Amino acid sequence: MSSPLPGTSGPTCAARRVTRPIDVGGVTIGGDAPVRVQSMTCTRTGDAEATLGQIRELVTAGAEIVRVTVNDAAAAEALPRIVAESNTPLVADIHYDHKMALAALEAGVAKLRINPGNIGSADKVREVATAAADHGVPIRIGVNHGSLHKRYADLAALDPAGALVQSALDEIETLAAVGFHDVAVSLKSSRPGEVIDACRRFSGISDVPQHLGVTESGTLQAGTAISVAAMSVLLGEGIGDTVRISLAADPVEEVRAAYYMLSSLGLRQGYARVVACPTCGRVEVDVMALAARVEELARDLPADKTISVMGCIVNGPGEAKGADLGIAAGKSKVAIYRNGELHRNIAKEDLERVLLEEVERLK
Ligand code: SF4
Repeated sequence: MSSPLPGTSGPTCAARRVTRPIDVGGVTIGGDAPVRVQSMTCTRTGDAEATLGQIRELVTAGAEIVRVTVNDAAAAEALPRIVAESNTPLVADIHYDHKMALAALEAGVAKLRINPGNIGSADKVREVATAAADHGVPIRIGVNHGSLHKRYADLAALDPAGALVQSALDEIETLAAVGFHDVAVSLKSSRPGEVIDACRRFSGISDVPQHLGVTESGTLQAGTAISVAAMSVLLGEGIGDTVRISLAADPVEEVRAAYYMLSSLGLRQGYARVVACPTCGRVEVDVMALAARVEELARDLPADKTISVMGCIVNGPGEAKGADLGIAAGKSKVAIYRNGELHRNIAKEDLERVLLEEVERLK
């Protein structure tokens, strides 16, 4: 996946801000690398089988880096096998217990994510940084509004975004003091405006690569809209080196939503495009069901393909002519277009079967 969504014309984003690249198990974040797509497993990490299964699903959907929580002894114990059998670089998500970070490094993870609000004393952070340096593993400083250290409480009350930025800068300094510079940051909040403000301000003062996300953004529909609203502003300004759309949903949906967002902005190639009309009182066939089915199949097609599913002849022929495959439903028949040309007219009752066969032919 490496070029924009078909139909995206011209640049939609400012030039990417130049950041200092880091290497995450062979996947570069920052520098001139494309904006990376990440997600996180929601299985118990101690259940290696389930976690590996979900990692594979995420990678199939396009995840380039996957984060797993390392929160207890069972997770730490399962991690060496998960790392060994994973088909993508893994990030260990660490809260509270710096010993979990040390165990994750021993297990061979490609990156650590530590939360400066709860990882403990600077001594513990330095111990983790020294071990990470020994393993050649970068660290993401993952600052989160909901778990900011209490020393930033006064600042957060006055300037929430400023508190996120200050927490990240202080942690970068703690790591730099022991010679550790292999870092990325994330400045997350469940409030999109705060995320935009914090990421913009950080980008103005640091070349450390940024992982973008609106934390706890919500369920599939609302969370996607809220995340995309915030991230599109930042990506449009050239800010952001990697993204996660954090949803209370199957994490595969996070990956899909990220690619739809990035390809719409011309930043990554996504999936084949399905143009579907919203339907209205003129609709002649069940566009909603057909479009949903075609969209599923389209994720396995070459990304430069376009399929249009249109409910009547008002805009149907026009859209179909601009697509690799299109339908325009009439009163009694449905016109099937291929490569912009009318291919044939079929009976409505044959539509689902014929359309799905035609989609298969695009593979
Ligand atoms: S293409 Fe036809 S059915 Fe679909 S929204 Fe437009 S007018 Fe309505």
